[in-house]
Amino acid sequence: MPTFSGLEHILCEGVALSPFTSLRLGGDAQYFAQPTSEEELVGLVQQCSEQDVRLRVIGGGSNILIPDDGFSGMVVSLDAACFCQIDVDGNRIHAGAGAKLAHLLSIAAKNGLSGVEQLAGIAGSVGGAVRTNAGTHSGDIGQVTKSVHVINSDGEVSEKSGDDLRFSYRQSNLDAVVAIRATFELEPALPEEITKQMQTLWIIKKSQQPTGVVGHGCVFRDHGGITAASLIEQAGMKGHSVGAVGMSESHPNYLIVNEGGTSKDALQLVQAVHDAVLEHSGVSLATQLEVW
Ligand SMILES: Cc1cc2nc3c(=O)[nH]c(=O)nc-3n(C[C@H](O)[C@H](O)[C@H](O)COP(=O)(O)OP(=O)(O)OC[C@H]3O[C@@H](n4cnc5c(N)ncnc54)[C@H](O)[C@@H]3O)c2cc1C
Repeated sequence: MPTFSGLEHILCEGVALSPFTSLRLGGDAQYFAQPTSEEELVGLVQQCSEQDVRLRVIGGGSNILIPDDGFSGMVVSLDAACFCQIDVDGNRIHAGAGAKLAHLLSIAAKNGLSGVEQLAGIAGSVGGAVRTNAGTHSGDIGQVTKSVHVINSDGEVSEKSGDDLRFSYRQSNLDAVVAIRATFELEPALPEEITKQMQTLWIIKKSQQPTGVVGHGCVFRDHGGITAASLIEQAGMKGHSVGAVGMSESHPNYLIVNEGGTSKDALQLVQAVHDAVLEHSGVSLATQLEVW
């Protein structure tokens, strides 16, 4: 039985994870921690590593699917104030990993700094966005990320930048580390113009997302310039459902969860859609959604 000496005050056992996710699915975290300082976070990472306890950070929970039987290990939330700070320094912004992505965008616009507008309407935290290299066809966060402070599994804090920091389509080389904060380099522009563009992109993005359901999530990555949505539609899987979970009728690459939906339904549906697309187009779609 693992023990977390000196960290009991930031730990809970058996915490329901579904309220922390966009899909609103899944069971409990064996352990759930909300560190209130970098020192506590480092200690937590070290103690998990020493005792072979799996550790994952949860950001906005907009890109994860928790199994019905929950997550065996430590789930860490960086929602304390010290991880959500955002500071502007010339054309650079330093943002804590726990800060909301929307907050970063509004600070950038207010300070006349352009380069993150394309992220308008994407849910989640700065840490989750950097880790998944969030973006749209107009660009991704990796293009403006100068450096990321991380903690490795031994609890060592370092700064990744230059060749140490790699981004590709919806991926980064930050899989095995905890991101604490990131620095973005942006271009000066008129605040009103940035705000106008963000508002336009936000409206477009929101119009493409399902509403009025218990939970929702974006499932597959696009494939070689073809959208996952068009491949799903061509395979006849638009609106297909398993139990109370279905692919959206209007936005085929979104999973929608209705009352009574389970992660088992969602996983079966994702597999069925994957197989139908493979059979129809010969494309093996990769999931964007991460299953814990
Ligand atoms: C309706 C909807 C629309 C979406 N549209 C887009 C889109 O257009 N483009 C796009 O790119 N994505 C999109 N997504 C997916 C999602 O919003 C992004 O991937 C987002 O950046 C994830 O951030 P998060 O904080 O919610 O991460 P989470 O879902 O909480 O976590 C995602 C991954 O990041 C890891 N992580 C989180 N924080 C940290 C940290 N501090 N250090 C290390 N690892 C960390 C988690 O462990 C997990 O592996 C959409 C999702 C939804 C629900």
